[in-house]
Amino acid sequence: MAEGQRVVWISHKSGERCERCGAECFKGNFLQITREEGIRCMTCAGLAHLVFLPAGDPALTRRALAASPLSAIVVKFSRHRKRSERQGVLAEAAAIEKAKEECTRDAVRREKARERRRARDEAADREYVARFAERILELYPACPRADVDAIARHACEKYSGRVGRSAAAKQFNARAITLAVQAYIRHQYTSYDELLAQGLEPFEARPMVADRIKDLLYRWRGD
Ligand SMILES: [Zn+2]
Repeated sequence: MAEGQRVVWISHKSGERCERCGAECFKGNFLQITREEGIRCMTCAGLAHLVFLPAGDPALTRRALAASPLSAIVVKFSRHRKRSERQGVLAEAAAIEKAKEECTRDAVRREKARERRRARDEAADREYVARFAERILELYPACPRADVDAIARHACEKYSGRVGRSAAAKQFNARAITLAVQAYIRHQYTSYDELLAQGLEPFEARPMVADRIKDLLYRWRGD
């Protein structure tokens, strides 16, 4: 077997002996078994200095194997499943250390990238709110500032998380702005929600609050 693909077994019974030094191998010991040399203890196999790295972190395992001049795949025979199962690897301690450091550096890099992305998204959100607010004020210059901000924030929540905020910019047309303002007035300045709560259907409630909405839109237009 090629270097790096050397296989070491975890003994599942006691009483076997190294065929070179005669040392007894106990259950749970590492053994090398080859056609040429039979059973070898780790010392006689020249692997005693290797450290066991349990399976479970593929990136760590891959890096440890790459950094270790001598290594082995550790398997255990499952009598229950009647097949050998991979348990981890044996690698040089320095290689495992190096692999751990690389994985930590990677995690730090990923976290930093996440933070940068978050900051970019927040900036994009702020810009979206600011631009939406600007457009509201262009169309409805008499709209109170608190209402402008509330409408813009709501519009942003609706679009945040969407891919391509430039596409969302298309929503800044007059019709979209007016729809957003109308919806806001309906919920904040009319009895629309109460009417629905009383059991009215939207098609029944809408005409009842239409005048109030028109009136406020007119006032906020400021002409
Ligand atoms: Zn031995």
